[in-house]
Amino acid sequence: MERMHGGTRVYGIIGWPVAHSRSPQMHNAAFRALGMDALYLPFAVPPERLREAVAGLRVLGVAGWNVTIPHKTAVMPLLDELSPEAVRAGAVNTVLQREGRLIGHNTDGVGLLTALQRDLACPVAGARIVVLGAGGAARGAVAAFAGAGAGQVTVVNRTPASAELLVRDLQVGLPPGWLQAATTDELPRLLPAVDLLVNATSVGLKGERHDDLALALLPEAAKVYDMVYGPVATPLVAEARRRGLAASNGLGMLVAQGEEAFRYWTGLLPPLGVMAAAAAAGVGAPNP
Ligand code: NAP
Repeated sequence: MERMHGGTRVYGIIGWPVAHSRSPQMHNAAFRALGMDALYLPFAVPPERLREAVAGLRVLGVAGWNVTIPHKTAVMPLLDELSPEAVRAGAVNTVLQREGRLIGHNTDGVGLLTALQRDLACPVAGARIVVLGAGGAARGAVAAFAGAGAGQVTVVNRTPASAELLVRDLQVGLPPGWLQAATTDELPRLLPAVDLLVNATSVGLKGERHDDLALALLPEAAKVYDMVYGPVATPLVAEARRRGLAASNGLGMLVAQGEEAFRYWTGLLPPLGVMAAAAAAGVGAPNP
């Protein structure tokens, strides 16, 4: 704080709510580690004031900001440009302000792929993947898996219509049958042929278990990735590990999307482990 002056660059995150986000700790730790004259702040923006908030960030010259629930899709038409990653995912989690123009980008996909590699040594190319959930996180995951050459992806959601809509929206340009929607009733048929199971629902956030999910049906070599990261071992991760399966919570994805956003804004990568340590310090607090 004592380093701040008139030229200090300001970054931040918009969300509603935002107070529990770990991004301020992560990015400020990276700025400190690199000795940069910059600051990252949380901005609580209610949905009905998003347009005003984006205009304000632009006028105030905020250099870059993250976008979290519930603004990731709604912010898109308010920006001047979208990166191919943002268009593919249908969501923006990172905005860069360059010469007065706002560029929307998405680092959740690369964050997920990096975390799968780092935490589970999980190859995505050719993998048969089941994604649980059909919200924004599931969309980002499917787009990332398409880009990484996964073998086949099936989306399973409590509300089947949302899974079907996701498939209709994202299957353009993909090989026929590569992306499918299925109902929870079909899980017993699907699970024995899965290489990677990804939870992209909010189940587990408050310690809930997944009904209708018989992990015993997964092959021994299958891996389980839970995007939820509130509890260190979510119920899904704990049960998968009890069954001898490799499993990870979503903290690594949070860290990797943050590292990539930092690089997008500054051209620099934070020293390895700095953001992870800052994020882990907040584990136990609720998920954003
Ligand atoms: P979202 O758009 O609100 O979608 C929520 C999804 O969860 C929907 O598919 C919803 O199904 C499903 N769901 C909610 N409650 C359920 C229940 N009781 N039983 C079964 N399904 C249920 O949220 P999101 O942005 O996709 O985020 C999903 C999760 O991923 C959150 O926990 C979020 O924190 C996490 N996430 C983590 C990271 C990371 O960096 N690790 C990044 C992004 C998101 P319906 O369609 O039936 O409502």
